[in-house]
Amino acid sequence: MSANRKPPAPAPLVAAVPTTTPFVAPEVLERTYGAPGMLRLGANESSFGPSPRAIAAMREEAPRNSWYGDPESYELRSALARRLGCSVENLIVGSGIDDLHSLVVRTFCAPGSTALETEGTYATFAYHVAAYGVRLRTVPYRSDGGVDVDALIDVARREQPKMIYLANPDNPSGTFVEPEAVATLRDALLPDQVLVLDEAYADFVPPEKLLQPLLDPQVIRMRTFSKAYGLAGARIGYAICDPQIVRTFQNIRQHFGINRNGQIAALASLEDDAFVRGVVDEVERGREDYYALAARHGLRSVRSLTNFVCIEIGTKAEANAFLEDLLRRGVFVRKPSAPPLDGYIRVTVGTPAERTKFAEIFAAARTPVRA
Ligand SMILES: *Cc1c(COP(=O)(O)O)cnc(C)c1O
Repeated sequence: MSANRKPPAPAPLVAAVPTTTPFVAPEVLERTYGAPGMLRLGANESSFGPSPRAIAAMREEAPRNSWYGDPESYELRSALARRLGCSVENLIVGSGIDDLHSLVVRTFCAPGSTALETEGTYATFAYHVAAYGVRLRTVPYRSDGGVDVDALIDVARREQPKMIYLANPDNPSGTFVEPEAVATLRDALLPDQVLVLDEAYADFVPPEKLLQPLLDPQVIRMRTFSKAYGLAGARIGYAICDPQIVRTFQNIRQHFGINRNGQIAALASLEDDAFVRGVVDEVERGREDYYALAARHGLRSVRSLTNFVCIEIGTKAEANAFLEDLLRRGVFVRKPSAPPLDGYIRVTVGTPAERTKFAEIFAAARTPVRA
């Protein structure tokens, strides 16, 4: 082998993909800051773990990890179909919503197509948009941190993007668009447009506040076991959509891409409603704790329907510096990147003990050091 030979160049579409990391993981931060065992409140993972039934089921099935999972995820899809009141043919399982984002962009967009979203919303959709050579058009949040549905509708009509992405509830703001407004956005679509409705936090929302009807040929709803169900590491989520779209996804997805443990754990979790109910209730108490913490410090916070809360720090530069300081103090949190919440930090609801620890470190970081 000659030392001066170069590796072959990737395809032009791939070569043009910008080098970005949608998220810097806490493990990377721990290595960077030399601080193992950080208080892990930055990725909206569940502090309450998976259901004990899910853990037992995975333990029981551990020896069968030598087998591939069912490529059709049939049992899980059947259980979901019964629960949601739809057909198995309306459901596709992915290794998390992030996987489904990739599928949806690949399915509906060609290089040169346009996708529309709120600037600074959940990053993975835009990451895949960039990876497939699709143009990203954004509109800003409203001044209160809510998604500006009117602006999305306006651009959707005038510029006719192929896809419109809405995370509802939104991440990183935590804000929620009422179902009537989502329906207005849906009704504004041209027949060839797709609404990607990312409902990663649907479990934290009262069911009557979710968009009705469940099924719509132009809407692809995505849900996950990563948040309320505490299974982020098992990588399992699903989309609810038209059977024809499900079939298209089936044709191009990784056939054995779903983790067998994830299938098993998700199925067992669906039989433990009491556990999830408990998580959702505790998360609600945790949000109240964070609102109160912000108020004690004379800071604003954003009402949230998720498992995290944004707390005001000051200017963008001040919030960035504060975040750095928290990281040095062993707390992993993240912050919104775009206005109007770029002067805020975003904190995941932890256990009561984690919340107390966070409040202490927060207070210490807010206190100016005396000379
Ligand atoms: C956490 C999150 C996801 C990722 O879900 P996975 O199923 O773990 O891939 C997707 N969308 C939003 C809005 C999220 O907050």
